[in-house]
Amino acid sequence: MIIGEKRQTDLQKCVDITIKVPPLRVRKTDIEAQVEYYISLYSRDKSIPRRKITPEALRRLQSYDFPGNLKELRDLVERAIVQAGETPELTEETFWSVDTKKKRFRVNLLNAYPKLRRFLRSAWWTDRINYGFVVPIFAIVVLVLFLGPQTRERNFALNLFWAWWWTISLIIFPFVGRIWCSVCPFMIYGEITQKISLWLFPRKLKSWPRQKAEKWGGWFLFGLFTLIFLWEEIWDLTNTAYLSACLLLLITAGAMIFSTIFERRFWCRYLCPIGGMNGLFAKLSMTELRAQQGTCSAECTTYQCYKGGPEKGEGMETDGCPVYSHPAQLEDNRNCVLCMTCLKACPHRSVEFNLRPPGIELWTTHVPHSYEVALLFLLFGGVYLHHLPELQFYLGLEINLNNFWAHLGLSLLALVIPIAISLLANSFIKLYCTQNRTKARPFIKLAYGYLPLVLGGNLAHYLHLGLTEGGRILPVTLATFGLDGTQLPVIIAHPAVISFLQGSTLIISTLLTFLLTQKIARQPLRKLIWQHLASLIMAISMWKIILL
Ligand code: SF4
Ligand code: SF4
Ligand code: SF4
Repeated sequence: MIIGEKRQTDLQKCVDITIKVPPLRVRKTDIEAQVEYYISLYSRDKSIPRRKITPEALRRLQSYDFPGNLKELRDLVERAIVQAGETPELTEETFWSVDTKKKRFRVNLLNAYPKLRRFLRSAWWTDRINYGFVVPIFAIVVLVLFLGPQTRERNFALNLFWAWWWTISLIIFPFVGRIWCSVCPFMIYGEITQKISLWLFPRKLKSWPRQKAEKWGGWFLFGLFTLIFLWEEIWDLTNTAYLSACLLLLITAGAMIFSTIFERRFWCRYLCPIGGMNGLFAKLSMTELRAQQGTCSAECTTYQCYKGGPEKGEGMETDGCPVYSHPAQLEDNRNCVLCMTCLKACPHRSVEFNLRPPGIELWTTHVPHSYEVALLFLLFGGVYLHHLPELQFYLGLEINLNNFWAHLGLSLLALVIPIAISLLANSFIKLYCTQNRTKARPFIKLAYGYLPLVLGGNLAHYLHLGLTEGGRILPVTLATFGLDGTQLPVIIAHPAVISFLQGSTLIISTLLTFLLTQKIARQPLRKLIWQHLASLIMAISMWKIILL
């Protein structure tokens, strides 16, 4: 250190003129050249091939202010190269910095409940649950859907799928976000296929075409979800067992096919329609998985959570994050499937499972995406789609739903109702802002304010099925095998109770939508009044078609 300082002083003595260079935060255009320079220095020094930086990663660096200036940039680049391992590209996930704002209002449940940590690090989460229970149960469900009676009141698998699964998964989003994806049979079959195919044909699986997938993956899953919705409505999937089985097999086939081509869980990260929905609603969750950035940047050199690797200290042997997310870099819940691989792999106890204000990322670290907004409005439209007869009644239409084209037309109309109302409200906001010479927030950002209402509307719809048919599961199970189960107990909520719960869900989600919109926009109420009005109109219309 003393020698270093002496050299610096000697050097200063030899220099006549000192040129002061502005800090990095005011010359962001230099970042690219600087990064390239550090990459080549490090690669030459370590005799490794030069890595390329992706445009997304560069944009991420350019949006950061670098309080530590060049030294911080150099550290970030070197850390990214180590984390990337043999991957030829330095992606967004490999660049992350310490941001203390992200740590506000969090309680780490793993510290508060050590038993939870032990459970999540045990073989039960998720291997034993998945391979011991989920795999055989899913196989039985699909078989029963194909071979059993075809209606919901006589097929327990159909009852489980539509009355139980949908209701429960919508209820748990605000609590544990995307947890379904950690015990999802589609992907377990995908992983099994990947392992078998590698055993039969040993090879290196393809790395992900990330740029294309980031650009088009969301639109692919949006398109697939639209087709599924139309298929569900026009062919009455909810009451036709073999078609429901086909839907399950379609998603499983996607997971299996892409798992034999690409490494890890490419389908889950970019293409799965259910995963897209789960990722969207997970943003509202009151829990999150993250890592302590300070610990990661100061202590870690192996990045086992991301890359995988052998056992090290407390860290267990794993293959790394299946969806290529880095827990220290996560800024929203969309890209975490809560598999806890990183928690098992981390040797430094850096991974946390936090309790947080629900949906906080939406007004702090969130980056909007147009394909996500499209999916949000599609799911919104799904509520209207599920109530076409009521919609016809209120719109005064007389359409014969037995006619395929008329049915298709009305279904498409139902799907576009929410986006049409929201766009209209947004044009009034823009008009108001133009008249008052202020700036309106972009539609794509404000649209996330509707998210609680989308979840609430879907839940209000499925509550009816869950509370009327879910409790009939015992007699329906016997009926599936041709037996008489009329003597078995059934639990059905009184219609008044169901209406009360549906109504409360809609009221609470509307109020949360108002609140979230205000938080996201950070603008006075009068500027957002049109969006609030749009939310209110949609809440009332959903009330009318679902409850009345
Ligand atoms: S993304 Fe889709 S296939 Fe993957 S775990 Fe989630 S629901 Fe299953
Ligand atoms: S979470 Fe653990 S393994 Fe991953 S970078 Fe941080 S300290 Fe390293
Ligand atoms: S960040 Fe951790 S919990 Fe989330 S998907 Fe990756 S490994 Fe699993």
